[in-house]
Amino acid sequence: MTGAPLTLYNSLTRSLEAFQPLDPEKGVRVYSCGPTVYNYAHLGNLRAYVFTDTLSRVLTWKGFPLTHVINITDVGHLTSDADVGDDKMEAAARSQAKSIWDIAAHYTAAFKQNIADLNIRQPSRWSVATDHIAEMIDFAEKIAPEHCYELDTGLYFDSTTVPDYGKLAGSQDDTREGRIEAVEGKRHPQDFAIWRKSPPGEQRQMEWDSPWGKGAPGWHLECSVMSIKYLGAPFDIHTGGIDHREIHHPNEIAQNQAFCGCSDTGAHFWMHNNFLVDRQGKMSKSKGGFTTLQSLIDAGVHPLAYRLMCISAQYRSELEFSAENLAAALTRLKRLVMAVRALPLSPATDASGDDDYLAQLDAAVSDDLNTPRALPLLEAMVADKKLTAGRKLALLVHFDDVLGLNLLNLDRQSLRMRPAAATITAEEIEARLIERKEARAAKDFARSDAIRDELTAAGVEVMDGDPLGWDWKPALGG
Ligand code: AMP
Ligand code: ZN
Repeated sequence: MTGAPLTLYNSLTRSLEAFQPLDPEKGVRVYSCGPTVYNYAHLGNLRAYVFTDTLSRVLTWKGFPLTHVINITDVGHLTSDADVGDDKMEAAARSQAKSIWDIAAHYTAAFKQNIADLNIRQPSRWSVATDHIAEMIDFAEKIAPEHCYELDTGLYFDSTTVPDYGKLAGSQDDTREGRIEAVEGKRHPQDFAIWRKSPPGEQRQMEWDSPWGKGAPGWHLECSVMSIKYLGAPFDIHTGGIDHREIHHPNEIAQNQAFCGCSDTGAHFWMHNNFLVDRQGKMSKSKGGFTTLQSLIDAGVHPLAYRLMCISAQYRSELEFSAENLAAALTRLKRLVMAVRALPLSPATDASGDDDYLAQLDAAVSDDLNTPRALPLLEAMVADKKLTAGRKLALLVHFDDVLGLNLLNLDRQSLRMRPAAATITAEEIEARLIERKEARAAKDFARSDAIRDELTAAGVEVMDGDPLGWDWKPALGG
């Protein structure tokens, strides 16, 4: 597809830049920092993968062959993004009295289920940090002589040995949380661990022998090693949440520069999604009390309503999560599904209409993935009286490809999810609603009210006269 030129925001230059693959023969190579699997992903984490999925869908739809790697962090990420605190995996294993491997397997499987529920495409490869320890040690040995120094606690990277350390983070402010280092003997506050030695006399669940003693790799090392291994250097696009712009990615860049002995950062574009926030601020795992996708599903909310909520904002703006925003997204999704279901059954033949919906979709998403502009376009398209049903279905294939809302497959039934806590099956709900209709037709309002109360008690809210023709919905909020 030729189409509109693709423009993406590059955090390195803090500007919109025209995107072209570095090596067209290799296609586009993308690396996304993946989840740390010591706990369930929260909705904020998942926003990061709706963003990378939008990026990969847009690239693919625009005709670029794509190689996409997402890593799974199962070692090295400390309870602070800097070098203090415990390994998140060790801490979770201790508090749950489980092996780290069981913890990692459980939360990795849960994360992949979230990915499937959100209709996020599988990357070309999931790369697991602990499968790459030997390569991390090789990498560290190569950069150590010129760039690292050893302390009792581990091997540290001297941040002054590379050009422009921290450029990606923008102005340096060493008073930021995580910048003030408790590690004794560090030459500069920004220096970071490449290898952390196990404390003497302490048996850790995850530790490996290395030239610097038994221990574990620093968190940043895995991403440099795995991205270069699977994508080569430099590759096209590196993604992560905006918190990674401050510490994790500048440190990856420093390692990459040390490794290549050049000033290349390792990737052409560094892209970052903004936070999902709630009224308490940034949603975060360590703060606790966060919302998981499964808890939405258990409350009877279809996971694609959350996807729609994410793409109704541009990935670079902050997005507020609230019950109201989620309800609005669910309503929007229901409207779309009903409009699509109402189309007369006809083959999607009319592939090239004389409308310009495809060009407009292309222009929107080629403008730094402007999905909030693509959504109203989709709504206008399904409502457009001048288009044949066949043409709409043909266009929907494209909109589903790019936005991932799966509108061609969703129906009323699948959207209406029974809350996990409901004490009644979907068939029973339908049967009770038919009884209630009959009672109302016979003007037996006492009976009709009794059925409604019974359903409410079972976690189901009856909706009389709902403008969307929805007879019931899960009673949210208990
Ligand atoms: P983690 O599992 O903590 O390593 O985080 C996985 C991804 O989620 C990273 O790219 C983070 O930058 C991103 N992330 C963390 N919190 C949020 C949030 N509240 N909103 C959006 N992205 C986030
Ligand atoms: Zn990373």
